[in-house]
Amino acid sequence: MATDQYNRNLHYLRISLTDRCNFRCVYCMPEHMIFRPRSELMDDEEVLFFVRLFVSLGFDKFRLTGGEPTVRPNLVGLVKDIVNTSGVKSLSMTTNGVIMKKLAHPLAEAGLQRVNISLDTLDPKKFEMLTRRDSFEEVWGGIMAAEEAGLKPIKLNIVVVLGHNDDEVVDLARLTREHAWHIRFIEMMPFGGATDFQRNQVVTAKDVHERIKEAFGPLEAVNGGKLDGEARLYRLPGGIGHVGFISSVTQPFCASCTRARLTADGRLRLCLLHEDEVDLLTPVRQGVSEPEIRQLAREALWRKPWGHGLAEGTVPLNRVMSEIGG
Ligand code: SAM
Ligand code: SF4
Repeated sequence: MATDQYNRNLHYLRISLTDRCNFRCVYCMPEHMIFRPRSELMDDEEVLFFVRLFVSLGFDKFRLTGGEPTVRPNLVGLVKDIVNTSGVKSLSMTTNGVIMKKLAHPLAEAGLQRVNISLDTLDPKKFEMLTRRDSFEEVWGGIMAAEEAGLKPIKLNIVVVLGHNDDEVVDLARLTREHAWHIRFIEMMPFGGATDFQRNQVVTAKDVHERIKEAFGPLEAVNGGKLDGEARLYRLPGGIGHVGFISSVTQPFCASCTRARLTADGRLRLCLLHEDEVDLLTPVRQGVSEPEIRQLAREALWRKPWGHGLAEGTVPLNRVMSEIGG
């Protein structure tokens, strides 16, 4: 088991499969994003090499993300190979859902267990404003296809943006009365590029909770109010799904963080909100031996920073969210 200097057991790796995306969400990337040359990104063999390497370090839980992971060629084949890697206990994916109608069944058959789908609004016009794409219907269809394919529980990620979708939090929470979904409200985080926007339009998880409580009455805490991953989960009166709050900005969960991230260009990112990264791909391409790369990764994980410094005004500027993987 990999441990860091604060005695946290690290066993969860989020792998970004690409920095590319078919959306341009306003809180994530600029409209005219410039992507890395493909030659700089990990190929399938390199992704699988790192999966095996991290398994050997004690990692057993993996999530595929991006950019948009579904734009990667051979995603289904890659999922199958990751799932069949000895030591991998769980594989999930975060996606914008726009091609899930086509991919949900093949991915489930390949062994993908769950998906998180981003859906910030139920209003197609607002959807277009937030994602800069007119694709609400496709995403809604993608959610249904994912559920049919058994990629459950369906978790919907909602970044709450003041003046854009904060007036919809009650309607979004209401979905849990009819669907056994997790509706997860995420505080917008500041990254390089669009930081003014991200800072000025944050809506806190506490605010969202209050608004939902006003509409439905007190929410029932699930798991005694303990964190489930990064979310605190609740149930609406009469609800069958869960409402989750991810308060990364106002109430970070750093003490219980068990994760690390691998960017699409093969950098081990130790904390989402810290710029520190260790390049693992270059040594692989230079032919450095596996034990030496394992040692490089182990030492980097040991140095994982305690927590982020958003409260002190430290904002990571070296990458935007789509380049890290959420
Ligand atoms: N493209 C996929 C998607 O949108 O689900 C996966 C990658 S995306 C970077 C992962 C998650 O990060 C999404 O749920 C997205 O809403 C969230 N996200 C992006 N920018 C964010 C920001 N500035 N603050 C908080 N969450 C953000
Ligand atoms: Fe693409 Fe996901 Fe970023 Fe939206 S949040 S631009 S879908 S990577």
